[in-house]
Amino acid sequence: MAVNKLAEVTLAGLFLLDRKHPQVEGQVNQAKAYAVDSKSSPFEPTSIARREPTERDVQIEILFCGICHSDLHTARDEWNEVMPTVYPCVPGHEIVGRVTAVGSEVTKFQEGDTVGVGCLVGSDHTCAQCQADLEQYCPHAVFTYNSPDAHGTAPVTYGGYSESVVVDERFVLKIPGNLELAATAPLLCAGITTYSPLKRAGVGPGKKVGIVGLGGLGHMGVKIARAMGAEVVVFTTSPGKIEDAKRLGADEVILSTNPDEMQPHMGSFDFILDCVSAQHDINRYLSMLANNGELTLVGAPEKPLEVSAFSLIGGRKRLSGSMIGGIAETQKMLDFCGQHAITSDVEVIPIQQVNEAYERLLKGDVKYRFSIDMASLKRQ
Ligand code: NAP
Ligand code: ZN
Repeated sequence: MAVNKLAEVTLAGLFLLDRKHPQVEGQVNQAKAYAVDSKSSPFEPTSIARREPTERDVQIEILFCGICHSDLHTARDEWNEVMPTVYPCVPGHEIVGRVTAVGSEVTKFQEGDTVGVGCLVGSDHTCAQCQADLEQYCPHAVFTYNSPDAHGTAPVTYGGYSESVVVDERFVLKIPGNLELAATAPLLCAGITTYSPLKRAGVGPGKKVGIVGLGGLGHMGVKIARAMGAEVVVFTTSPGKIEDAKRLGADEVILSTNPDEMQPHMGSFDFILDCVSAQHDINRYLSMLANNGELTLVGAPEKPLEVSAFSLIGGRKRLSGSMIGGIAETQKMLDFCGQHAITSDVEVIPIQQVNEAYERLLKGDVKYRFSIDMASLKRQ
């Protein structure tokens, strides 16, 4: 539902924008970046336009940017039916950086601050969703990449695989001082995408929570659900992740390919967060829920998933979805992670290894998030 809405917004915006002759507001600067030119081309160095900060803007030198599976879905146009990719595409929405300039009306930030930018860079600030701090569901939400660029600097927004970005201060986050920066970048998407539904579901002491898929999102879900005080069980298809899952905070780990390990847990979960990026049978996980239990999808596979009515009606179970989180909640999540010293487990790479990183991400060969060190772009 949310994705369909998103698609309408993105498509409507694209039609409204004259892509050949955008109305550029103010001065434009060039920034080094990595982009793909089609769904089958590799990332290559390029130069993109970034606007000169306007009154409410914060200009940020990007230090680290995580690689989310959504970057890969988008770069390869896997979500074409709901959100077609406009090329060239510069993904990246797990951004941590340093403020290099602020506009005259900026009040929250100053030069030198360490800040974050996640998946959102704009919204209309007037609709019911914005009023409820749910900017991610605003009909005019502007996403960090592949969204119509309201400023007209480029046909679409360009993300964090770049040396700098300019963002309205209302979409810039404060980073707790105790967190290591390379490992903090993934909180801006993987962190909030798991924190928000866990919080909404009332996860805490006395609740049994399942996390399906131990990738970038899943491993953050484990850490956050554990810090919220829940009993955490991981479902993984990868035998090589079992010990890690325990180290990350899981009370128990189930190899989901083994029915004998699944069986004893049937009907026992209060809440399950599904973080899987590819086709899989969600009916197996719905059968794990207790009566009135809820399974929330955050993973966004390319193709529709099949749901049997009997998976839901038998125990009055609920199937729902959730997309990132609003800005206020993202700040709460960062503060929560600061208090609990939670960051992502990252493998730091130079931008020159981004193509190899995508291949490894597809194979599940990353523990558990790539974080790009943007200093490598300066050496380009
Ligand atoms: P990721 O790091 O690649 O992790 C995905 C995990 O899914 C893998 O580690 C693997 O876990 C499991 N998996 C992969 N292929 C599978 C298959 N064929 N069958 C069963 N399990 C499989 O990806 P991510 O960055 O965490 O993103 C996960 C999904 O969430 C993506 O679709 C992404 O686009 C989406 N996403 C949604 C939002 C939102 O707002 N809703 C935000 C960010 C990302 P195991 O090895 O443990 O089985
Ligand atoms: Zn993401």
